[in-house]
Amino acid sequence: MNDLNANLENVNARIRCACEKAGRDARTVRLLAVSKLHPADSIRRLRSAGQVAFGENYAQEAVRKQAELGDPGIEWHFIGPLQSNKTGLVSRHFQWVQSVDREALLHRLSSQRPDGLPDLNVCLQVNIDREEQKSGVLPEDLLPLARLASSLGRLRLRGLMAIPSAESNDSETAGSFRVMHQLFCHLRDEGFPIDTLSMGMSSSLEQAILAGSTMVRVGTDLFGPRIR
Ligand SMILES: *Cc1c(COP(=O)(O)O)cnc(C)c1O
Repeated sequence: MNDLNANLENVNARIRCACEKAGRDARTVRLLAVSKLHPADSIRRLRSAGQVAFGENYAQEAVRKQAELGDPGIEWHFIGPLQSNKTGLVSRHFQWVQSVDREALLHRLSSQRPDGLPDLNVCLQVNIDREEQKSGVLPEDLLPLARLASSLGRLRLRGLMAIPSAESNDSETAGSFRVMHQLFCHLRDEGFPIDTLSMGMSSSLEQAILAGSTMVRVGTDLFGPRIR
């Protein structure tokens, strides 16, 4: 578990294998290394092994680690629940936000994204299993949110993100991934030029790739268990 390089190789091999089984080109699936609650040093080690994209859930923790690393080659994704009072920080310090689920956040991110930076890449988070406690827009409310995201300046709508229920068994999770893929295709059919379907984590990346995921978000199987 301590050998981060071996973990990275192993996860990349799992992605390649899942792509092969799904009849997909392995280059169509990106790996996001989820580094929340892990130290900057672990990020540095994966980075040296070639990993580019890292995901963080807590804005202040992320900004601290970004300063410590000082590595402009890292692509930072914000993937945690987003509070209104954190949109400024997130719009200044990340290239991607995957957890946008309401209009107010889109307006704030759009107006707060600094002028000198490229457009902020946005994924809309879908509450695919309709869980009370979970962030995410409900599927029936997705289309108007996607329209707004595409109409605002400084933002670039890239796609969708989902976290299926932790209570689901394998076949229920697979079902949720399939519905996400349908929503993704539906938006494309509506003319949205989206390219990212972010789904699949340590224990579900194979299923997600089979269902059409283009980005798997892996924490535990890369960095080991998270200790608070
Ligand atoms: C923590 C987290 C992950 C990674 O989960 P693992 O099971 O540790 O791979 C992926 N996505 C989101 C949104 C997360 O918060």
